[in-house]
Amino acid sequence: MNIGAPREQTVEGSVEGGCLCGAVRYRVSGTPISSSCHCRSCRLASGAPSVAWFVVLNDQFTMLSGRPSTLRSSPPVVRSFCGRCGTPLTYQHDDDPGAIEITTATLDHPELFAPTKEIWLSQKVPWAASHADIEHYPRTGFDEHGIVG
Ligand SMILES: [Zn+2]
Ligand SMILES: [Zn+2]
Repeated sequence: MNIGAPREQTVEGSVEGGCLCGAVRYRVSGTPISSSCHCRSCRLASGAPSVAWFVVLNDQFTMLSGRPSTLRSSPPVVRSFCGRCGTPLTYQHDDDPGAIEITTATLDHPELFAPTKEIWLSQKVPWAASHADIEHYPRTGFDEHGIVG
C-alpha cells in the first residue's frame, strides 16, 4: 500500500474514530489525504474488496482508549485491528516511520476525507467498483520512493 506523504496543513480542531465494538477510540488532526487501496493484502486484512485509508503524521494521531492487536502482514508492514471486534485500524510501513495510515471508514465522519486516488488497481477484483473521476495508480500512489505495498 502506501498512499503518499502526509500533508502538513492543519484543520480546526480534530476528528475522532474507532472500532465496531467501541473498545478502541482514536483522535486525529491535520488535513489528511485519503486513498482507496485494491491490493490483496488490504483485501485479506479487511474482508472487503478495497479499503480506504488516510495518512497523518504520528504526532497527529492519539489513541484515546483500547489497545489494538497488531500483525506484521509483510516484512516491512505492521497492521493493527481491534482484538475484540476485528475492525482494521492502522497500517505502518518501516520505510515511513513518521506516518501512520488509518482506515477512513472508522472515522465518526468518514465523509470528511474522501479518497482522491485509487491504488493497486493491478490487483483489483474485476467486479469491484472503481471511481472514474479520481486518480488511478496500478501500484502505489507514492512513486518517488517506489515503496511496494
Ligand atoms: Zn493495500
Ligand atoms: Zn472493537
